[in-house]
Amino acid sequence: VKYVNGYRCILCGAPWTIDGAEYTCPGCGGNLDVEYDYAVLKNVLTRDGLRASERFDIWRYAPLLPVADLRAVPPLQIGWTPLYRAGRLGKKIGLDGLFLKDDGRNPSASFKDRASAVALARAVETGAPLVTGASTGNAGSSAACLAASLGLPVVIFVPEAAPRAKIAQLLIFGARVLAVRGSYDQAFDLCLEATRRFGWYNRNTGFNPFTREGKKTCSLEICEQLQFEAPDRVFVPVGDGNIISGIWKGFRDFYALGLIDRLPRIVAVQSTRSAAVVKAVDRMVRRRGAPKPVPEGEAPPAILGQEIEVEPVRATTVADSISVDLPRDGAAAVRAVLESGGDAVAVEDEAILEAIRLLAREEGIFGEPAGVASLAGLLRLVEKGEVGRAETLVCLITGSGLKDIDSALKVAGTPTPVEPNFESARGVLEDLLKELQMQNGLDGNRRAV
Ligand SMILES: [Zn+2]
Repeated sequence: VKYVNGYRCILCGAPWTIDGAEYTCPGCGGNLDVEYDYAVLKNVLTRDGLRASERFDIWRYAPLLPVADLRAVPPLQIGWTPLYRAGRLGKKIGLDGLFLKDDGRNPSASFKDRASAVALARAVETGAPLVTGASTGNAGSSAACLAASLGLPVVIFVPEAAPRAKIAQLLIFGARVLAVRGSYDQAFDLCLEATRRFGWYNRNTGFNPFTREGKKTCSLEICEQLQFEAPDRVFVPVGDGNIISGIWKGFRDFYALGLIDRLPRIVAVQSTRSAAVVKAVDRMVRRRGAPKPVPEGEAPPAILGQEIEVEPVRATTVADSISVDLPRDGAAAVRAVLESGGDAVAVEDEAILEAIRLLAREEGIFGEPAGVASLAGLLRLVEKGEVGRAETLVCLITGSGLKDIDSALKVAGTPTPVEPNFESARGVLEDLLKELQMQNGLDGNRRAV
């Protein structure tokens, strides 16, 4: 870990060496943040160097990651996912600069592979005999997928009610799966206890400090994909708060290295049925006033996590990946919003399901409920008139819709039954044809290309 200075506690601010703390702050139990030697890294990671790089995965940013030896990393393609300009959807909702970062395109079909890759590389480096983790489904299936590619045994704790596709992924990748008769939060605590008792290597989100490092690579990619221009705002689905804290970290890293000239505002999006972070942000805003964007060229403010109170809720959202009672990286998530001058938005589950359909029909991207919460949050702000037409906006799509087809089927519609011969089918087909002609006639925008 050539360019790593050490850890800093997110809650109390105490510094630790990499060997002086394993997961959390030995002083206060807070989550740890990895700090880098930016002065040296400035000469290592440059725009020209990155433009010339032929490595198109997260390891193109290896100097900014706490991994010593690239021979220890999973051999699968992780990261460098597409950033699409959403022309059709943007037009429909009146936005000229809308982009979608499709992280369902990772090996296990979710954003979590970025985190698992870095955490598992660390496990291999330290000679861990076994990896464990608790998960709502995606982090676990990601750990199982990447561990399979490395030949590492994994034990995953998931709530019994996790979507079947995610359980199928876990099992088919060969993980030992413990279906906890309880919530994600209970699975998390049980996994921690097993880690303590048996000395396993733990990948848990918002506990293992390396998950945030993997997750930040998404922001580095966005900067490069926008030709080293930071977007105005980035919309992030929030459950545990670890993705959003990673997203903010990535932009701060590139800003500190002079690779981007300004910082984006980070918008946290949660379901109203799992809104612990939104509520914590609201309390902070009432106390300190609305956060302001970071002026170009200035350092972002540093808010100490111990000033932030995140209180648990009783999560019941359909978006299982962000269904969390107590966000495990909650303080860091609130900090990302406040330091960046961002926002925190809660949306109804119905709006999340509707966003699945809209995204699929306008852009051909199929996201899971949590994965499209970002878009639902953007739509909410558009409705309130709080988004400028010319803003550059990125919605993070964090997971594939195939992971939870039951939710998609709630808004997808139904197929039309038809007999297997033309004469019996004719009536149905003619009705269909009429309906399509009417729709296109009314739209009036169908033309030959
Ligand atoms: Zn501490």
